[in-house]
Formats: sequence, structure tokens, C-alpha cells
Amino acid sequence: GYRSRAAYKLKQLDREVDLLPSGATVVDLGAAPGGWLQVAAEEVGPQGRVVGVDLQRIDYLDDVKTPVELVRGDMTEEDTRDDIKKAAGPGGVDVVVSDMAPNMSGEYSLDHARSVHLARMALETAEEILKSGGHFAVKVFDGQDFEDFVDDVEQEFNYTRVMSPDASRDSSSELYVVGKSKIRAPIREGD
Ligand code: SAM
Repeated sequence: GYRSRAAYKLKQLDREVDLLPSGATVVDLGAAPGGWLQVAAEEVGPQGRVVGVDLQRIDYLDDVKTPVELVRGDMTEEDTRDDIKKAAGPGGVDVVVSDMAPNMSGEYSLDHARSVHLARMALETAEEILKSGGHFAVKVFDGQDFEDFVDDVEQEFNYTRVMSPDASRDSSSELYVVGKSKIRAPIREGD
């Protein structure tokens, strides 16, 4: 079985927009406890590679033939983003996904603002490590800054879509922004 119910959301995103091509290298931000990692490993297969990042420790994935690398760190810190760039390698990666969510305060506008901040960290990381033609999917809580964020994703990808997977209908403010086929090459140091 999967480690999280969230796994079914990634399966649905992949079914609808073909997010996880066989053989792809995937970076999964906010990956604990590892449901998305399991789905990503399944979909990319043994020729692919998966890198999982979270504040929390993630237990190793047994029974997968896909190489998996785990990074423990805070995505709002530069050091963590540097570790991911190292793990991604100089050629960049094919897919960046983020299911990061803030600790909920219960105050709607604050939770929204924190969610958008995490989503922006994911977009920035995608700008830095995602290959041209690569794909991106990120969770964002709906709210006043949502459309601005979608506009910024649209600048980077040939095709952008907002999705609400069935598995997340119970928390109605949760949306996924999917960017397919990145326009620019990764931003490398010294470029
Ligand atoms: N997709 C995961 C799965 O299927 O198992 C579930 C992810 S859970 C909804 C959100 C995760 O985001 C939490 O594990 C949390 O620790 C992580 N997170 C929140 N803020 C973060 C940050 N600043 N840096 C890294 N991870 C973060």
C-alpha cells in the first residue's frame, strides 16, 4: 500500500496530464511520509531516479528498483536548495513536484500566504534545476495571491493548468498548478 492518501492525488495528476514519464528524474518537495515518492518511483521505473526532500525524516523505500535519494531540510533555506541542486546534478531534472504544506494555523489568510510562499520556493527551484521541456506540479491553497502565482507559472511553461484532484475535494481550498514543458533551460551558477 501507499504511505499516504496523497499518493492518489499524484496518480490522478499523472493520469490526466502525463506528469511522470518513464525514465524521468523527479524531485519531490515536501515528500514525507513518502506516498508521492512511491508513485513517482513506480511511474519512472528502474531507469528513472527520484529525489525526496522534507523537513521530516523519510523512511527508506524498500521494494523499489528506482534509485532514491532523500534530503532532509527546509526548502525556505538556501542550504537546502543548494543540496537539491547537487542531488539534481549538472544536467538538471525532468520533473519537479511539490506537495509542501505549512503547519495550519487555522487563520485562512495566513495559511494561504505561507502556502504561496512554499509554492514560490518550489517554482524557484524548478527554474533552477528543471530541464527545458520538463514538467512541474505544485500544491497551493486558494486565496488572494493564487492568480498571481499561476501567472508566474505561465511565464515559465508552454502549458499551465489548475487542477483539483478528487482525492483532495475534502479540503476544498487545495489546488494543484501544473506547468508542462518548461520554456527555458535550467539557471546555472555563473550564467
Ligand atoms: N506528498 C506527501 C506524501 O504523499 O507522503 C505528503 C506531503 S505533506 C501533505 C506536506 C509535507 O510538506 C510535510 O511532510 C511537511 O513536513 C513538508 N514541508 C512543509 N514545509 C516545508 C519546508 N519548508 N521544507 C520542506 N518540507 C516542508
